[in-house]
Amino acid sequence: MKLPLLVLLAWSAFGQAPETEATRRLRELNKNFDRRIVRVSESVYSAIGYGQSVFSMIVGSNGLVMIDAGQNPEMSSEALAEFRKYSSLPVKAIIYTHGHADHTGGTQAFAKPGDGVELWIRRGGISSLGGSEVTGLKQDHVRSRFQFGYDLPASDRITGGVGPVTISSTVYAVAKQDLGPARRTLNIAGLTLEVAPNPGETDDHIYIWFPREKVVFSGDNFYAAWPNLYAIRGTPYRDVRQWGESNDRMLQLGPMYLVPGHTAPISGKEAVTRALTDYRDAIRFVFSKTIEGINLGLTPDQLVEYVKLPAHLAQSPHLQPYYGHPAWAVRAVFSGYLGWFDGNPTNLFPLPPTERSGKWIQLAGGRRKLFNEARRALSSKQPQWAAELCDVLLVAEPKSAEVRLLKARALEALAADQLNPMARNYYLSISKELQR
Ligand SMILES: [Zn+2]
Repeated sequence: MKLPLLVLLAWSAFGQAPETEATRRLRELNKNFDRRIVRVSESVYSAIGYGQSVFSMIVGSNGLVMIDAGQNPEMSSEALAEFRKYSSLPVKAIIYTHGHADHTGGTQAFAKPGDGVELWIRRGGISSLGGSEVTGLKQDHVRSRFQFGYDLPASDRITGGVGPVTISSTVYAVAKQDLGPARRTLNIAGLTLEVAPNPGETDDHIYIWFPREKVVFSGDNFYAAWPNLYAIRGTPYRDVRQWGESNDRMLQLGPMYLVPGHTAPISGKEAVTRALTDYRDAIRFVFSKTIEGINLGLTPDQLVEYVKLPAHLAQSPHLQPYYGHPAWAVRAVFSGYLGWFDGNPTNLFPLPPTERSGKWIQLAGGRRKLFNEARRALSSKQPQWAAELCDVLLVAEPKSAEVRLLKARALEALAADQLNPMARNYYLSISKELQR
């Protein structure tokens, strides 16, 4: 057993990651995002697969109202050309469900400066922490690349989970009118639309309700995947409790049709009610169960074990971990309310990493023994344990090629069985970094 590096390299040279159940499911999932225009109701058409997000056209008597604008002008223009097969009326307004770039970046396809198209958004939802121009924070962008797998070969980036993987995203900075803080009615192009604040994924979220045809546009407070209550790229606390209530508010409207911010629209009162109810109940459950566990004195690691979804929610097709993950939501609620300290005083002033790592290596009987154990863990299908042991070694010898390669392999093994595309991309991105 003196040639671990060569053995690993040989694996690397010849080994194509095997098609696992998780990767098969993710490939299957991607078919949902094939490009198409869906006629949701009499006057509502939605574009799917033209970027990560879903955006819609409502046909009025003398013009069109767009709900969101898609991710970038090129793809949104392609969608508009398809929309044009159903109506040649002029675009009168865009109403944004929220301000994220994947819903606003395509604006130029529908509106140009000075053309009189009304742009409506609910302002004031930007985090009081300030953007990167204020703070200098850049690492969230780096982690965003890891999360979405932007630097991975296309074959490794199977899916965006709630839409196709789409790399380019432009922000079109153009003045928009503020919808303000209250529920209100907009009359545009002969259409009557009700818009109301609906904080959830972001504070600036609204829902748009088209009462004549009973269509609700949820923005990202609903899509057919576990909600991204925490984004692993890093976000300030997203108000989990409010997000649950945002689904309840939409439920109270009694919609027949639900157009999400990502993933296909849902039709039929029963199906829509089921979807919004499951979403609301799952978010409420995770929130209240986490608070219950916190009150028992549990730490984040223990809470992840403690908070288990009821079977009917765990199995709901709308709540599979294709974007967010329940375990991350639990940790987010803890840190959102209590911050970083887990309550164990050992962790108030822990040993510095190099000191702790040195002691573990000594206790294990030296770095070779620890390395061999990590290798054994990987070959006996315990990739998480292998990665954790590699981390101990990497603190002491961050440049060790054999340890970096072993951890890279452990991350690839974790990725192979991971159903959450964000985690999968992150594993594979860091694996690539380790092999540089
Ligand atoms: Zn979105």
